[in-house]
Amino acid sequence: MSALNPTRRQMLASSVMLGASLALPAWAQTAGKSAKGARILIIGGGVGGATAAKYLKLFDPTLQVTVVEKNRTYIRPYGSSEVLNQHTSMAELNVSYDVLASRYGIQFVFDAVTGFDPVARTVSTAGKLKLGYDRLIVSPGIELLYDAYAGYSEQVANTTVPSGWIPGAQTALLAKQLQGMRQGGTFVLAAPPNPYRCPPGPYERPALMAEWLSQHNPTAKVIIVDPKDSFVTDETMMLGWNRLYNFNLPEDYVKKMSPLVEVKHHATPGMLSWVRGKDGGRTLRIDAKKMTIETEAEVIKADVINVIPPMRAGKIAATLGLTDKSGWCPVGRRDFASELHPHVHVIGDACVADAMPKSGFSANNQAKVVARAIIESLAGRPAPEPLMENTCYALAGKDYGLFVADVFKVVDGKIARINGKARYLPLNASAAQIKLGARYQQAWLRTFTQDCFA
Ligand SMILES: Cc1cc2nc3c(=O)[nH]c(=O)nc-3n(C[C@H](O)[C@H](O)[C@H](O)COP(=O)(O)OP(=O)(O)OC[C@H]3O[C@@H](n4cnc5c(N)ncnc54)[C@H](O)[C@@H]3O)c2cc1C
Repeated sequence: MSALNPTRRQMLASSVMLGASLALPAWAQTAGKSAKGARILIIGGGVGGATAAKYLKLFDPTLQVTVVEKNRTYIRPYGSSEVLNQHTSMAELNVSYDVLASRYGIQFVFDAVTGFDPVARTVSTAGKLKLGYDRLIVSPGIELLYDAYAGYSEQVANTTVPSGWIPGAQTALLAKQLQGMRQGGTFVLAAPPNPYRCPPGPYERPALMAEWLSQHNPTAKVIIVDPKDSFVTDETMMLGWNRLYNFNLPEDYVKKMSPLVEVKHHATPGMLSWVRGKDGGRTLRIDAKKMTIETEAEVIKADVINVIPPMRAGKIAATLGLTDKSGWCPVGRRDFASELHPHVHVIGDACVADAMPKSGFSANNQAKVVARAIIESLAGRPAPEPLMENTCYALAGKDYGLFVADVFKVVDGKIARINGKARYLPLNASAAQIKLGARYQQAWLRTFTQDCFA
C-alpha cells in the first residue's frame, strides 16, 4: 500500500492526531457562541471611539456598549484650522454625544480613565468607578510632546505660544493672536516630525492664514519651519501656494513638476515661505519672552508662533501598557488587537498602522473593522480580511481644494497601500476640478461628522 492511498484506519488516526482545531472549520468548533449581550467598553469618544460604538450597535443592538470619555462635548480637530481664518467658529467645532446615546442606546460615562486590570477585565476612572468589559477598545488620540523643544512646555503653549493640534483653548488663543497681529508681522509655524496626526494639516493651516492675511494684513509674512524635506500632497499644495500667494517652489520640485504643469517663478515672492529640513528648518528652541524661534539655520523673530510638537499615543495608552518604545501601540493589522494585552483593541491615531496615516478618516475605517472583528471573535469566528481606505482633503485656499486618496490591505502582516500612483489631485487639474475639491472638503466635514457621531 502506498502512502498516497491510506487505509480508513490510518485516515481516522491522522484526523485524531490533527485534533479538532485543525480538522474542523472555525465556525463548526464554536457553534452556539455569540456576541449577544457582550459588554464592550470604549476609552475615548473621539472619531475612533464614537464610530466604533455606533457601528457595534448597528451590527448587533444587543451589545452593551459604553464609552468612557473625559469631556462632555467633543471638539473636532478636523476642520479646526478654519477657526483661525474665520471660516468657522469655535462653537461650530463642538460635537454632542446626545444622538449616539438616544438613537443607538450607547451609554456614556464622562470621566477620565486612569488604569485597568487586564485579568479581571475592569477599567478604573478618576471618579473611582470600576467598569467591567468583555472587550475593550482604546482610541485615546495623541499626546503632544511639548517638552521636545528647549523653552517650550504645556504652560507656554497655554499662555503665549499655542499649538492647538488638540483643539480647545489654544485654538482660540491662536486665532486671537493671528487676527490681532500687527500689520507687517511675522507668523511662524513649526511643523512636526513624522509620524503625526493629519499629514496635510501643518501645510493647510499656513495656507489658510496666507489667504486671510492677504486681505487683512497684506505685508505680513508666513514662515513654515520643518524638520522634513517633503510632505504628503506637497506638489499639489505648493502649486496652490504658487498660484494663490506667489510662492516660489524649491528648484528640485520645479524640475520634477514642470513637464506636467506650468510652475511660475515670481520675481517678487509672496508672503509664504517653507524652510525644509535640508535647509535647516528643524526647530531647536522657543523663547516665548523674546518671541523667537531658533532652528538649525537661524533665529527668527516672530509676532505669532504656532508649534506643532512631536507626538505619541494619548497618555492613557502608555499608562495601560499598550505602547512600545516607539510611543505608539502595536496591534494585529487585521483586527487592531493589542499585541501587548489580550481582549484589548487600539485604533485611531494611537495605533501603529504602517502606511495608513493618522487621520480621522483612518480612525473611522479602523473603528468599523474592529467592530466587525469583535463581533466575529465573540462568536468564535476569525476576523474577515479588511480592506480600508483614507482620503485626506485639504485646502490651499477657500476655493482651492486638493486631496490624497488611498486603499489599504494587509500584506505580509503590514498595512500596505494597494492603489497605484494615482493618489492626488492631478497636477493638471482644471480650475473647476480644483474648486470642486474645495466643495468636497466642506461636504466631507459634514457627512463625516454624521457618520461618526449621529
Ligand atoms: C488641524 C487638524 C486638521 C485635521 N483635518 C483632518 C482631515 O481633514 N481629515 C482627517 O481625516 N483627519 C483630520 N485630522 C485628524 C483627525 O482629527 C484625527 O486623526 C482623529 O481625530 C483621530 O481620532 P482618535 O479617535 O484617534 O482621537 P481623537 O479624535 O483625538 O479622540 C480621542 C478621545 O479620547 C479621549 N481621551 C483621551 N484620554 C482619555 C482618558 N484617559 N479617559 C477618557 N477619555 C480620554 C479624548 O478626550 C478624546 O475625545 C485633523 C487634525 C487636526 C489637528
